[in-house]
Amino acid sequence: MKIAIDIDEVIVEFVEKYLEFVESRGVRRVDYEDVFCYELWEVLGIEKDLVVKLFDEYNFTEYFKKHDFVEGAREGVVFLRDNHDICFITARPKDRIKETKDFIMNEFGVFGDKVLFSGDIIREGKNKDEICRELGVGVIIEDNGSSSLEYAENGLRVLLLDKPWNRRVEHERIYRCFSWDDVLDKIKEIEDENL
Ligand SMILES: [Mg+2]
Repeated sequence: MKIAIDIDEVIVEFVEKYLEFVESRGVRRVDYEDVFCYELWEVLGIEKDLVVKLFDEYNFTEYFKKHDFVEGAREGVVFLRDNHDICFITARPKDRIKETKDFIMNEFGVFGDKVLFSGDIIREGKNKDEICRELGVGVIIEDNGSSSLEYAENGLRVLLLDKPWNRRVEHERIYRCFSWDDVLDKIKEIEDENL
């Protein structure tokens, strides 16, 4: 089965580290559990431009480079790599292409042509569901709630990793997963359905 995998907050942690980083830059502390949406300017109560500026800075810090894995993600991706046709789709900025491709290569031995860059609420570019359609991918593993809703409405099946910022999202093609084990179980279910 062809499966697309998001990177930040699906494979590696991002939000907690970003919150820590922005706090070090004088932005008020917000707890991870209180991040109620991905429009972080709404959560932090600061201008969108500042969120973007700090995000661009963050991407060049040790926080970004450290790559702390989401629990179960490393093993989960290895399993999917060995049993399915996977690609990675991220909305990381273009100046992080090399680092991101290197990370995927070093960790999973997957070549850079399987690491694709999309747009998002901050950056111009194709949506992830458009990229999936072009590649014939029917399932994506994601954590962004509002994007997932869009993808689901456009026909993609979404395995949504449960996070504080996506709790209100529901759709018949969105399967909420509470862990990576759960993700792998759901993939198996979808596979069995297709047999
Ligand atoms: Mg993500």
